[in-house]
Amino acid sequence: MLSDASSGIGKQAVTVLGLGNMGSALAAALLDHGHEVTVWNRTPGKAQPLVDRGARLAATPQEATASNQLIIACVLDYDALFGVLDPLADSLAGKTLVNLTSGSPEQGHEAAAWAVQHGVDYLDGGIMTTPPGVGTPEVMFLYSGPTAVFATHRPTLGALGDPLHLGEDPGLASLYDSALLGLMWATFNGWLHGTALVGAEKIEARAYTEIALRWLKTVSVFMDTYAAQIDEGHYPGDDATVDVQIVTIDHLLHAGESRGLDNALPELLKATMERAKARGHGSDSYASVIEVLRKPGGPS
Ligand code: NAP
Repeated sequence: MLSDASSGIGKQAVTVLGLGNMGSALAAALLDHGHEVTVWNRTPGKAQPLVDRGARLAATPQEATASNQLIIACVLDYDALFGVLDPLADSLAGKTLVNLTSGSPEQGHEAAAWAVQHGVDYLDGGIMTTPPGVGTPEVMFLYSGPTAVFATHRPTLGALGDPLHLGEDPGLASLYDSALLGLMWATFNGWLHGTALVGAEKIEARAYTEIALRWLKTVSVFMDTYAAQIDEGHYPGDDATVDVQIVTIDHLLHAGESRGLDNALPELLKATMERAKARGHGSDSYASVIEVLRKPGGPS
């Protein structure tokens, strides 16, 4: 294969099913890298900007998937995905389906079983960006499924971002995707609560965020330390104990209350810390809070 992005010579031809915001960005990144791209969307008008750039518009999913070995699907959800794929399942044998539609790990398993039943090689994927980030080399695209299938298509998938193979279990990409989105939303809400708190003193979001981003770097160091503690099941309270943090979060609650903020988030955090204390973790590190988040009887 040639690596010249300006020429399509030697590049794998790819089909993209679904041209919403994300599917359109995926197809555009593949075109940027010189791939021949066939597209299909339920609403064909959305294909026009891609057709203007050289994509071939297929009238049906059947037509879109007929000639290409690699099919990338990105529609709203799994119901939509199988609404598109079920009618043509028998024609997909021997092809590779890379499913970048968001779903649960269980849906990833179901899709992989469907693929085995129809003789399709299947990779499940999770996109760790919004459409403007697609095609950026640093952005993570998570994949799970057969290692050999990933290895075969890795060069093409590299057009979308940095392809990370998490393992053969097809549910892993969605598992990580869900966990990472949970981290994002929790971080957003903590940051927004802080932004509202300082904003009550007429401090602009940008000024606070500059300091908050430096703080997140320090927090990431704490996370590294705590990850090792969690893996070892041992939470030495030699930095800041749960007891100390319960006292400290009262300052945040007081500051928020005095400024009329919605304090639901810090109240939830304090309640969770108190549950950890009630389970005997008052003098342990913050990492011990995981003990009250885990399913009782689950892995320790
Ligand atoms: P979107 O702009 O709303 O596009 C949805 C796509 O699904 C469109 O192509 C739509 O076709 C198609 N679709 C919906 N219902 C369908 C059905 N019953 N049959 C056939 N096609 C159907 O959404 P998006 O932002 O592109 O998201 C697509 C997937 O990527 C989702 O699973 C989303 O969670 C995931 N994702 C998105 C982002 C993001 O930042 N946007 C990031 C990571 C992952 P029509 O055009 O005909 O409506």
